[in-house]
Amino acid sequence: MNQGPVNNRTGENDGAVQPAKRAELLVLCSIDGMRPDALRAADTPAMDSIIARGAICWHARTVAPSETLPAHLSMFYGVDAPARGLCGEGGLTPGRPRIPGLLDIAHEAGLKVGAFYNWGPMCVISQPDSLDVSYYINQRRRHRTATDDDAVVRVAIEHLETMSLNVIYLYLGVLDNEGHQEGWMSPAYMAALENADRCVGWLVEAIARLGKTDSTVLMVVTDHGGRGYAHGDESDECMIIPWMMAGPGIKQGYEITGPVRIFDTAPTAAWLLGLDLPVEWDGCPVTEALAQQC
Ligand SMILES: [Zn+2]
Repeated sequence: MNQGPVNNRTGENDGAVQPAKRAELLVLCSIDGMRPDALRAADTPAMDSIIARGAICWHARTVAPSETLPAHLSMFYGVDAPARGLCGEGGLTPGRPRIPGLLDIAHEAGLKVGAFYNWGPMCVISQPDSLDVSYYINQRRRHRTATDDDAVVRVAIEHLETMSLNVIYLYLGVLDNEGHQEGWMSPAYMAALENADRCVGWLVEAIARLGKTDSTVLMVVTDHGGRGYAHGDESDECMIIPWMMAGPGIKQGYEITGPVRIFDTAPTAAWLLGLDLPVEWDGCPVTEALAQQC
């Protein structure tokens, strides 16, 4: 068991912060293209309740370019993936990095891992053998609809109820699609955000039905914002993202004031699962949001 978050650059234990209890289940949900001001404006009771019983950073930062795969690679592999040259030609054509990711180290530690998503390229977030279950929903339509996010969550819940999964990743892609089609902050975009929140609510309810609320860490994140009908640049609208989590070992009702980088996601999740952080990772657990052990 770890004695505290380890700073990979110095190899030193950087504080007395320790999780009160290792999470038995960690659910990481990425809602593609979610701007913090949209989250504040929309009717999102499920995420509001996570914020109330957990911690949120309203000014986390993604990586440049603010694109989906570079951001998700950074999220899962604990590094600024484009800066580290992991995103291929032009930063947009990544394969699987040759460093361990969050799902890989969870699998290596004997945890059961599932990934559920509705965008095919998302498969690069882990090595294929690291997943006990993987479910890709391809609706074969250019313009996805709310039902495509609903399907991801329904299938994930079915597997949560029938398998003893320890780490679940869900990717909801409809919000970004509405941003590209109708514009960021448009009524259609806001409706998609509210539907994504309903999906998060189903997850929260399923975890409660299974009696796992007190042993589950729920992280809800995103990859980038957007403006107009696009994203990818380094504007605040694209780069600044909300980042939240709740569960054992996490402060309650806490607003994170310090910096959070998207590549701190994997280190924070690994820490809450009691996993050692790979030396290749540059990100750090967001210790500001971790509860002190009594
Ligand atoms: Zn995206």
